[in-house]
Order: sequence, then structure tokens, then C-alpha cells
Amino acid sequence: MPIDSRKYPSNWKQIAYRAKESANWRCSCCGKRCYRPGEIPEDLTRSQWTANILQVHHRNHDPSENESWNLQCVCAACHLNLHRSRLSPVSPGQLSLF
Ligand SMILES: [Zn+2]
Ligand SMILES: [Zn+2]
Repeated sequence: MPIDSRKYPSNWKQIAYRAKESANWRCSCCGKRCYRPGEIPEDLTRSQWTANILQVHHRNHDPSENESWNLQCVCAACHLNLHRSRLSPVSPGQLSLF
């Protein structure tokens, strides 16, 4: 089932930020500490820092369900793996956050 980015709520950025704050900006899969917005070193290339940002995954793959049980903070690499195993792509809503 493809993810429809229109299903994201209008306050998604705040929801995602709060989830990341409570996760202490660490990936729940590999434990990697990720950059907060504004914390990205200037000498990193985009592809270097995008691997170290935290994204919010929807456990049931439904972006309209934003209760804490459904939100999982993971780094970009782990997020990709989660979606690869479910055969559904990371939705554009995740990538526009930064
Ligand atoms: Zn990770
Ligand atoms: Zn996801």
C-alpha cells in the first residue's frame, strides 16, 4: 500500500519534533545519536548528514495515526531498512522535515 503524504497532519513537524525530543535524538534501532536541526556541522556534505538525521517512523505505516505507540524514532538508514522489509517506500513527508 503506497503511503499518501496528504495523510500527514498539518502539525506533523511539531509531532515529529516532540517524538525526537523524547527519544533524545537517538535511533531506536541502532542507538546512533542523530543531529538536531541547527546542529549539523557545516563541513558535512548533504549525503553525509542525511545519514545521521532522525526520522519518525509509523509502526503501522499509517501517517494519519500519530499516537505515541505508533511513532518510532529511527535514523535514516534504519528507516530505509524498515521500509525495505515492508516493501513500502519512505514517504516524501519524512524528507521535507529538514
Ligand atoms: Zn539507526
Ligand atoms: Zn517509516
